[in-house]
Amino acid sequence: MLRPYTRRLLLLLPTTTYRTAAFVEAARRLGVELTVASERPSTFEGAQPAAFLTLDFAAPERAAEQAAEFARRHPVAGVVGVDDDTAVVAAAIAGRLELTGNPVAAALAARDKHMQRVELARHGAPVPRFELHGLGEDVTDFAARLRYPCVLKPLRLAASRGVIRADDPAGFAAAFQRVGRILAQPDVVGCGDWTSRVLVEDFIPGPEVALEGLVVAGRLHVLALFDKPDPLDGPFFEESIYTTPSRLPQRAQAALGACARDAVVALGIREGPVHAELRWNESGPWLIELAARSIGGRCSAALRFGAGETSLEEIIIRHALGMPLPSLERERQASGVMMIPVPTTGVLRELRGVAAARTVPLIEDVVITAHPGQMLLPWPEGWRYPGFIFARGETPEVVEVALRTAHRRLEFIIE
Ligand code: ADP
Repeated sequence: MLRPYTRRLLLLLPTTTYRTAAFVEAARRLGVELTVASERPSTFEGAQPAAFLTLDFAAPERAAEQAAEFARRHPVAGVVGVDDDTAVVAAAIAGRLELTGNPVAAALAARDKHMQRVELARHGAPVPRFELHGLGEDVTDFAARLRYPCVLKPLRLAASRGVIRADDPAGFAAAFQRVGRILAQPDVVGCGDWTSRVLVEDFIPGPEVALEGLVVAGRLHVLALFDKPDPLDGPFFEESIYTTPSRLPQRAQAALGACARDAVVALGIREGPVHAELRWNESGPWLIELAARSIGGRCSAALRFGAGETSLEEIIIRHALGMPLPSLERERQASGVMMIPVPTTGVLRELRGVAAARTVPLIEDVVITAHPGQMLLPWPEGWRYPGFIFARGETPEVVEVALRTAHRRLEFIIE
């Protein structure tokens, strides 16, 4: 008798990700066989060799080799990466195993902020003017001739880590040194040539949105457009509230969607999730960044599709495995998430008020990811939110109010 054919998904999960639970739950709901690949061996790998795999995420071609070896024993039908680095590894594996995925060059261009600017500018996409500098350069000369305000950023860090606005040459010199110190942190230094460079670009004013999308055969489907009601004017760019649907005029939403669609084409992205940050002002849409992965942290819980039964991760997994796609229409209700800001530097002793925050009308959940004893570090050195607040309601306005009210009930005890 033939064994029933079950599709195996190879899920690339770095040990530091917050995305594990949502993807594992989605795979379970879909009844797919799951192999979790990580850069460090799991203690369960010996006992369950089909369920766990160690891959060298730092060397995508080597990882593809390791995955091909694994797939000879346990056929793999799809691969999903969850962050910028594993998106590149997923592309290499997809190429090697002939699975749905992106060309490696596209995933690389999406990951590296300078490569991305070069590609987008070459295709005429609306991106800020940019230049690349080496950390060893004497800044006096170019600081004097730059246009201000400008933004300095590392090429490959995420979550706005190390992104700083400068308003004049003195501010630029200080910011340049500060980015240099961030790039010398133990988890960053030695990760590659990019850690000795800084991208400098014009600051683009105007409201910012985040676009969540799924690319199928080169075509972008917009899954959600989130407003960011707190202005992101710097000098640091820690996120806070996201609400959807967007309150921007339809014309602006359409132009932002078209801008992201053009960027997808320009970068050569063919398949899978994308997450983009865009700004809108009197000159129209601006592409700040487009990543070939889904939204980070716990934020995807703010998204549900169809009648509310489908998660973002289910859509991503179905697409990767070539299963029929459900409705890509977001649920009818407005939804929002607050990435809880880090109040100050220090060791978290206690977080009070979580139960009270949960009782605020429209609040669906308050998820605290920081633990007592953890060092909290604000931006631009920091990159981890201590938690997330979720709300749903009739309109984005009431959702926003609920998120702010719940947040006011939280009290951080920090030493
Ligand atoms: P990351 O991938 O680390 O999040 P981004 O390049 O997306 O880095 O920058 C993080 C945030 O910094 C953006 O969401 C935006 O708010 C702000 N930012 C970055 N570049 C610019 C720019 N050129 N003009 C205005 N704001 C910017």
